[in-house]
Amino acid sequence: MMNPALRSLSATTWAWVQDSTNWGVSNAGVVSSQGVALLFDTQFTLDATRTMLREIDRATSGSRIETVVVSHQNGDHTWGNQLLPGREIITSAASAEHLCHEITPEQLTQLSRARGTDSTSRYAARHFGDFDFSGITVIGPTRTFTGREERRVGDVTVELIDLGPGHSAGDVALWVPGDGIVFAGDALFQGGHMIVWSGSLAACVQSVDTLLATGAQVFVPGHGALMERADVIDFRDGLTQVQEAATAHAKGGLPLDEAAARVHAEFAGGLAHPERLFTATAGAYADAGALESLEVLELVKGMADLA
Ligand SMILES: [Zn+2]
Repeated sequence: MMNPALRSLSATTWAWVQDSTNWGVSNAGVVSSQGVALLFDTQFTLDATRTMLREIDRATSGSRIETVVVSHQNGDHTWGNQLLPGREIITSAASAEHLCHEITPEQLTQLSRARGTDSTSRYAARHFGDFDFSGITVIGPTRTFTGREERRVGDVTVELIDLGPGHSAGDVALWVPGDGIVFAGDALFQGGHMIVWSGSLAACVQSVDTLLATGAQVFVPGHGALMERADVIDFRDGLTQVQEAATAHAKGGLPLDEAAARVHAEFAGGLAHPERLFTATAGAYADAGALESLEVLELVKGMADLA
């Protein structure tokens, strides 16, 4: 398979699939009907977004993207927004509120190119040093919603689902009922471990349950290959196993770093980025009341130390 590739999932729905578990290499989606289109997420860099938009334009015969639905505010899903000027950009109110806490393209460039010798700088250089963030202006949403919102895209009905906190402070999924397809954003990862930025692992499990409750058969994760229901159930089971183990460590009074190392040893498995288990462990600790939610850079440091 070409990578990345725009994969046709129905006559009116496509997924932009990056068959990669690398940081910053994210999936997206588009629904197009009657000459109008709705895009779910952009990409990390302007070049990556241009490539995707070119493929979408070709596949949809020049359909006009009128709306961009943003899954959450991480740069790998939003830093191409400026290439769609004048369009409606919609996300959940919780997601929009968190925009000011996100790391900026300038900060990430600085962090990954500083050649610092501390663990965080080295981790950032290794995973983000090759991206070109120049020219990016962060464009936030033009409108927000809460709960669920049904929309028409030409002849197609779609539903925006406000998942609440989980991966991020507020995640949004796109449900296409006529096709049985859910675009999950980073509520799902395939082939790699979950990142818990929100400080609640329980909320991540709840988001997966909400996605499963749609009855969808095909799930487009934020990162990695397409998933079927069985894959999503496996993913959920993995999260709950980590949750049980980490919660037991929290109740036993084990320091977070030690608990994360034990969870890493037990659950790394064959998935990419097992160091992200630090964020899951911290989420379980916060859920158990054993810890305040950590800031982004504290979470990155925890991962970098574990890697
Ligand atoms: Zn992502």
